[in-house]
This record gives sequence, structure tokens and C-alpha cells, in this order.
Amino acid sequence: MKQEANLRLILLGLPGSGKGTQADSLKKKYNIPHISTGNLLREAISKNTPLGKQAESYVQSGELVPDSLIINLVKEEMTRNHGARGFILDGFPRNLAQAEKLDIMLKELNLELSLAIEIKLNEEILIKRLTGRRTCSKCGALYNIYFNPPQVSDICDVCQGKLSRREDDNVQVVNNRIKVYWSNISPVIDYYQKNGILHIIDGNQEAPGVFADISQIIERL
Ligand code: ADP
Ligand code: ZN
Repeated sequence: MKQEANLRLILLGLPGSGKGTQADSLKKKYNIPHISTGNLLREAISKNTPLGKQAESYVQSGELVPDSLIINLVKEEMTRNHGARGFILDGFPRNLAQAEKLDIMLKELNLELSLAIEIKLNEEILIKRLTGRRTCSKCGALYNIYFNPPQVSDICDVCQGKLSRREDDNVQVVNNRIKVYWSNISPVIDYYQKNGILHIIDGNQEAPGVFADISQIIERL
């Protein structure tokens, strides 16, 4: 692509589809910020900010946090990150109202989305990915006890930090997150399909394969 610095990309996919991992690789390759509403919410909750307090019960049960809270959060991040340099949005938009609000937000900044990428995969793999997922509490490195275990159990290979598991990665909440995803996302996918910016990627592959497919689409822009 010609203007790498202006890549504005949305990652769509079920919880566990690997959005976070892909966003991480994309961020490094294209040098643009990764805006993950899930990460921002977890940070707010752990710091016990006003937003965190309002969002906590929703996140713990796998329900969507009210749109108004999320939209303000994304707006803040866009401004902080100077949207014009591009971004990777992960976990937002999650319903049609959020997608429409995003368009309004971008129009005000005189910007357009470059791409919406939907990562599709088999739900059995997905459950293992989520329930096996571990994150380094110090450097954020990602692991999976089934597919990509650390050398020493519960310890980060990179920085020796302690690995932690997301509270909402237990089977019950995972199932609810999947249900909530499907009941909200279809109109979002249709919306981007109509806009002509939707691309579907096979998420059953290993992460590097998924990344290669995404990169190829970006290079063709
Ligand atoms: P996943 O996609 O794996 O479920 P995320 O980290 O993206 O995980 O989100 C975790 C939780 O944060 C969601 O279950 C939901 O409660 C909340 N959340 C994240 N993004 C949004 C959003 N755009 N709108 C509403 N709630 C959200
Ligand atoms: Zn680490």
C-alpha cells in the first residue's frame, strides 16, 4: 500500500479469534496504535476509575458495556492517538449503533476506514484458545497452555513476569460472550460489506498464517 501511515483498520471476530495477537503484529509492522476497548476497560477496572466502576459488572458477565461509555472511551483514545496517523480497532464496533457512531466520529476528523477484517474460525478451537489463554502481567506477552505454552508454567519467557488469566476466560462467561457476539455483530458485518471494505480471513490457521493473509490484503490497498 502507498500510505502505510494512514491505515485505519477494524478487526472483527469472535472472542478468541486472535484479534489481539494480530493487532499486536500489525502494530509493529505498520507502526500504528492498537486501540482495544477490552484492554482499555480492563485497565479502567483494575485502576478503579469511574468508567471502570460502571463497566465492571458487564465485563465480568460477558455482556456489552453501554454504548455511551464505550463511544466516549474510543473518542478519547482517537484524540490521544491523533487518529490521522491510523489505528487498529479491536473489539469496537461490536454493534450497529457503535459502527454508525464511529463513522460520524471519523467524518468529523475528515477520515475514512481503510479496511474491516473479519477473522472466522471453528468454535471448538476457539474455546481452547480462550480457556487456555494467559497473558504476562508485566510485559503483556500472550501465551496459550494448549497451543503456545511458556517454557516454565505460569512464567513469561520474555521477562519472567507472572502469567495471568482473564477473569472472563472461564467456560461459562466464554459461552455468554460468544452468544452476545453473534446477537450483535451480523448487522455490523453487513454494514461493512455494503461499504465495500469487508474482507474475510480464515482464522483456523496458526497466527503467522492469519497475519500473512491480513498483510496481503493491506499491501493490495
Ligand atoms: P473478547 O472479544 O475476547 O470478548 P474483549 O477484550 O474485546 O474480549 O472484551 C471484553 C469485554 O469488554 C466484553 O465481553 C464486553 O463486556 C466489554 N467490551 C469490549 N468492547 C466493547 C464494546 N465495543 N462494546 C461494549 N462492550 C465492550
Ligand atoms: Zn513478560
